[in-house]
Amino acid sequence: MISFTSVPDFEKFVEIFTGLYRATFGYSFGFGLCTLPVSIFLVHIPNSQNWVLVDAADPGSPQKLLSAISAHFASFPNHNLKYVVITHCHFDHTGAIPRLLEEYKDLKVILGQPELPFIADGVQYSELSGDTYIYQAYKHFANPTKVIVSRDKILALEEGKENEFEFFETLEPICTFGHTPGSMSYLHRPSNSILIGDCMMNLPSFPSFSPSIQLAPPITTHNMKKAKESIKKIAELEGVNYVFLSHDQSEKGLDVESVRSFAKSLKP
Ligand SMILES: [Zn+2]
Repeated sequence: MISFTSVPDFEKFVEIFTGLYRATFGYSFGFGLCTLPVSIFLVHIPNSQNWVLVDAADPGSPQKLLSAISAHFASFPNHNLKYVVITHCHFDHTGAIPRLLEEYKDLKVILGQPELPFIADGVQYSELSGDTYIYQAYKHFANPTKVIVSRDKILALEEGKENEFEFFETLEPICTFGHTPGSMSYLHRPSNSILIGDCMMNLPSFPSFSPSIQLAPPITTHNMKKAKESIKKIAELEGVNYVFLSHDQSEKGLDVESVRSFAKSLKP
């Protein structure tokens, strides 16, 4: 079995394409028996001091993520980490948000509008238009400290208004609902790379134990039909050469052709 801890970006940000950096963390669960790779990205906005973080790690890694970010920014003394954009609000993608907001006072959180009930202060989880309750029960027992974010720290993007995100031209938000009610992907235009969260995963599979592209498990997925439609949408987007998943054992993401053939193999 290939170990993802040997990837060059394990717990540190490595530049994959100009202005796009990835770090991989390990999230242990199931009493430490399983470890899932979790990818986090940093995007530099060209001709500026501004940076965007994509996703915020699992509940076990806030300090590791904070350390990796400060080690990275040591080389960019005038940096401004302005936004953390979230692919979706499951706990393995939001765990470090409270620590990030403490550390970076002006940081704003960007997410898809239907995701608000996961984390926004004053919005009840019961208002969420469906999710896998078992997943959230797991969140409750695995991590009793819930991630609650003050509403004035959040910019929630509605479908059709994705260009309200200030850095839309560098990092275009694209609605890819299904895995959760408001899952988003982000297209890094300078490198034609799309960061898609958990629409798909690239993990070892039985019996070969070599990584293969697969759907997220149904137990974690809100609407599988929509998730498959979103995968087809990603496969058909123009200007995409590389696809980066959150749970991925590959060193440098997936070639879009492999995602296209996976999308074709999906039954509705
Ligand atoms: Zn995930």
